[in-house]
Amino acid sequence: MDTLRQQLLETAIELEKSNLSSLGPGKGSLSARRENGMILITPSGKTFSKLTPDELVELDRNGQKTDQSLLNPSLDLIFHKAIYDARPDINAVIHTHSPYATAWACVNQPIQPMIVALVLMVGGEVPVASFAFPRSPELGEKVASALGLKNAVLMENHGVIAVGKNLSKAMGCASTVENVARIQAISASIGVVRSLKPEVAEQAVKMESNYQ
Ligand SMILES: [Zn+2]
Repeated sequence: MDTLRQQLLETAIELEKSNLSSLGPGKGSLSARRENGMILITPSGKTFSKLTPDELVELDRNGQKTDQSLLNPSLDLIFHKAIYDARPDINAVIHTHSPYATAWACVNQPIQPMIVALVLMVGGEVPVASFAFPRSPELGEKVASALGLKNAVLMENHGVIAVGKNLSKAMGCASTVENVARIQAISASIGVVRSLKPEVAEQAVKMESNYQ
């Protein structure tokens, strides 16, 4: 049995059923990279819960389908691949339109590092990659560059990308980003959003790395 195919499909279905899915079934995209560099990605325009593991699309290092009989890959492949090319340390990419984080992307404001959990998960604030048209090479470049060494990035007037060493970490990151985006929205409505002091955030990261 192909465990990674199974895991990718299970994560896609989990996403589709969660509060991270705001535009309906099959929206967003998920991928995972194998040890040999091959990429598995959700297909274009299909409801995740109706897919079988063998309908996930396998691509070589150049982003080409390994079997022409397969469904077409998600049109988001352009930024999934740009992120894998820029980040050898990660093996999973999840793109959602989760409502609170997407709302911050639509007002072009980063999610601030005001909660320790976000700092540990993402590596600081969640930046915004400036708008580029879907499928354009600029989209991949802007997203990979704004992401840098962080584990999440907002796409201006579009949505969210979370990455991780594996699918479970990327999903946890997508969920934390949405929860903190919601807290930031509530904070902004009742007062001023205040980030953690940089030295406190640094100390939190240090303590976490000592603990592991
Ligand atoms: Zn999207």
